[in-house]
Amino acid sequence: MTPLGARLAQRIAQSGPITVADFMAAALSDPEFGYYAHRMPLGSEGDFVTAPEISQMFGELIGLWCVDLFEQLGSPAALRLIELGPGRGTLMADLWRAAAICPAFQKAARIRLVEINPTLRELQKAALDGLAAEWRASFAEAAPSEQDSPLIVIANEFFDALPVHQLEKTACGWRERMVGFDPGRQAFFFAAAPEPTPVCAEIPPSLRDAPSGSIFETGLEARALIKQIAAEIGASKGAALIIDYGHGESAIGDTLQAVRGHRYHDVLADPGLADITAHVDFATLIRAAAAKGVRCRGPVTQAEFLRRLGIAQRAGRLSQTRPERAEEISIALHRLIDGDKMGTLFKMLAVAERSLIPVGFDPALEE
Ligand code: SAH
Repeated sequence: MTPLGARLAQRIAQSGPITVADFMAAALSDPEFGYYAHRMPLGSEGDFVTAPEISQMFGELIGLWCVDLFEQLGSPAALRLIELGPGRGTLMADLWRAAAICPAFQKAARIRLVEINPTLRELQKAALDGLAAEWRASFAEAAPSEQDSPLIVIANEFFDALPVHQLEKTACGWRERMVGFDPGRQAFFFAAAPEPTPVCAEIPPSLRDAPSGSIFETGLEARALIKQIAAEIGASKGAALIIDYGHGESAIGDTLQAVRGHRYHDVLADPGLADITAHVDFATLIRAAAAKGVRCRGPVTQAEFLRRLGIAQRAGRLSQTRPERAEEISIALHRLIDGDKMGTLFKMLAVAERSLIPVGFDPALEE
């Protein structure tokens, strides 16, 4: 039993089963024992590898995406450049290097990084190598600005770490799925709440009659966050790029998964030691953001987005200048865009002020 497990077991013994969202929130962000509070999640010695860690091309192309928007915004004197969950800081470092093609962008951009993990904050500082940046614990703390400047928000594999509630179709109808603790087996278990709870109202009408045993997930925190981001973009102009694995339409399915040491792990075992994620429901994000008067584009697959931004050409160019790395570059390219790797599972969603046309999304508008 992990220290966090013991604490959660005690909480359940005192006040009854907790929601899946509460379990996930504690497992990931408990300030003392949460996974993101103290673990080193990323890289070959961590638990998983992300797109910016696979190749510099990923961050570079996102850098060009940002510069294009900056120019569409009329090259403002100040720009808030916010990254949510920057990991090792690789994406921002690559983005920044590519953005050197536009000195006005680099002059205007104020980098703000939203990160709760102290070890990762140090790695980000090192990756940015003396670049002026500020660290914050949440988007709400990162967003405020005296000058009311536009903002660009980047989030790669951040929304999947936000807690989800799960609902289960039982013989008596939809019920919230809870986490209990069995002292005999010293193990956590899932069980449906006996009575409906307010979160049951989240089931979309089209899914209400799903068969018994179905699971529906709803990310209330993700929705609240995208609303904050959209409101800020609506008020001050700018755009957000949300990159994550997930589905385009709200659907039935249990996507909660835990990963430890590059292997799948039991979601309820060892809270605090494994990463827990859930697929992002892009349709819900779009509905929540659209209510704030911004325009959403996508989601498009990561492969489509990166191809439209010219990843094949960038890979060719890199291989020409570094022939000794050509094979490595080709392998990285395939990992990022192939359908059986990250190419289609991962998707990009842009939330932008209505006059902006973010590249990579709508070919009809670009050609
Ligand atoms: N974007 C990075 C890392 C993804 S992992 C990459 O692509 O490599 C998720 C990141 O979000 C980590 O940096 C983690 O520490 C951070 N994080 C997770 N939950 C968070 C929260 N609630 N608030 C702030 N940062 C969080």
